[in-house]
Amino acid sequence: MRDNSESIHILGIRVDKVKYLDVLKKIEEFILSKKPHMLAIPNVEICMLARVYPEFKNILNSADLLMPDGVGIYLASKILGDPLPERTTGTDLMYVISDFASKKGFSMYLLGAKPGIAEKAKRNLVRKYPNLKIIGIHHGYFDKDEEKTLIEEIKTLKPNILVVCLGMYKQEKWIKDNMENLGVPVCFGNGGALDFVSKCTRRSPVWMQKMGLEWLYRLFQEPWRIKRQIVLPKFVLLVLKERIFRRRRWLI
Ligand code: UDP
Repeated sequence: MRDNSESIHILGIRVDKVKYLDVLKKIEEFILSKKPHMLAIPNVEICMLARVYPEFKNILNSADLLMPDGVGIYLASKILGDPLPERTTGTDLMYVISDFASKKGFSMYLLGAKPGIAEKAKRNLVRKYPNLKIIGIHHGYFDKDEEKTLIEEIKTLKPNILVVCLGMYKQEKWIKDNMENLGVPVCFGNGGALDFVSKCTRRSPVWMQKMGLEWLYRLFQEPWRIKRQIVLPKFVLLVLKERIFRRRRWLI
């Protein structure tokens, strides 16, 4: 997915032009290769944070697959005149990947979120996909000693897919720092996905998802997110600026 025709850049972050089906093909390819790969899912907040932290930007751009998360990135691609083929979200990807893994016999390990959440997420996923092999779970609040044990456990269990939900930047850095040692072919940083899949955080009604208003529903549930979502208008302005800049560069 490093070919320019297969990706776009939004505020300096590469986003691969993928549909759910392409993601599944890539996942299978990565698993068959037996080599570690990093998957990330940039949304508006991630793109804005990466502007401030060059290390985060570099980690993201080094990922093997960068799937778009949410309506903001999708709309930005349209504004930039190079639309993404599908509006994907991190939570939907959890279901799509779990379904695929259950059919292909790929095993999963769920890491992250508050204690108890990964268990609930596992229970819900296995109820939906009875053949799914979730061979390990761990919460995301570990100290250095627990981390050593956790890493050893993952290395022993050898899952095909490791879902890491530690929040943006932390999860991507954790994957980058540990993926070679872990040897897991698919390491997927997926933010708050376990909170949603466990149903501890409620997802917006489908009509709101279709209208791209999931962020608004989440804001009602967790008003403290306003501090993070405040970057949204700035993101729109920066994308419009990038659009004008690109057009002028093209005219010269
Ligand atoms: N989290 C975690 N360990 C930490 C910090 C956060 O497991 O040290 C979890 C947190 O409980 C939540 C997820 O990471 O489940 C972050 O969710 P959010 O929707 O805020 O994701 P982001 O937008 O940061 O990617």
